[in-house]
Amino acid sequence: MTQSPNAPAAVSGKFVTFEGIDGAGKSTHVNAFVVALRQGLATVGRDVVATREPGGTPLGEALRKLVLDESMDIETEALLMFAGRREHLVKVIEPALARGDWVVSDRFTDATFAYQGGGRGLSRDKLSILERWVQGTRQPDLTILFDLDPAIAAARLAGARAPDKFERESAAFFTRVREEYLRRAEESGGRIVLIDAAQSIDAIAGQLADVFARLGLPGH
Ligand code: ADP
Repeated sequence: MTQSPNAPAAVSGKFVTFEGIDGAGKSTHVNAFVVALRQGLATVGRDVVATREPGGTPLGEALRKLVLDESMDIETEALLMFAGRREHLVKVIEPALARGDWVVSDRFTDATFAYQGGGRGLSRDKLSILERWVQGTRQPDLTILFDLDPAIAAARLAGARAPDKFERESAAFFTRVREEYLRRAEESGGRIVLIDAAQSIDAIAGQLADVFARLGLPGH
């Protein structure tokens, strides 16, 4: 098909992920971020797909219920995470990016390295094989990591909601999860940007706005 000379150049969308231990404040900020980004992108005729992992598709949401509620072998857990991710990529993420839309996901593969790798001790090599198999070379363009002391996160979560299987884990588990997130951030070549999540909600919104302004994201 020949493109009309006046057609806008094909613009690939961007893939942004939010990460952090449970209770760090991701969900509190992701919605406002999506609203602002959507307003900015509307001016250039692009949309934002807001999604999450585990989940993001009907099959992924069914798997989410299993992995968050049922106890299972560690490797089974990691395989289910990547099975749901494959479905999410094929049905939602890649088509959106190909349309030129942006995708904002509450968690993605960094969480599997942090929780199943750091937290549960599953070998990083196995996770890297699955990452490559399921994603090919696809990686988020930008990851916002909410970094927080697990003791503060636990205090925030106490009474906030009924804890799932992961949220019932020990302080030592979340310390390992946090360490693996920080290790991934160091190795990410700038893809993962840290947010100091110990501050107030307003101060964190300000930190996010600074990151977005620096990156020239639409709507910020
Ligand atoms: P996550 O999605 O990372 O698990 P949430 O956004 O659900 O975390 O936040 C967990 C709890 O902590 C919620 O009750 C939320 O209102 C509260 N919270 C979020 N950010 C802050 C903050 N900066 N200071 C104090 N409490 C916060």
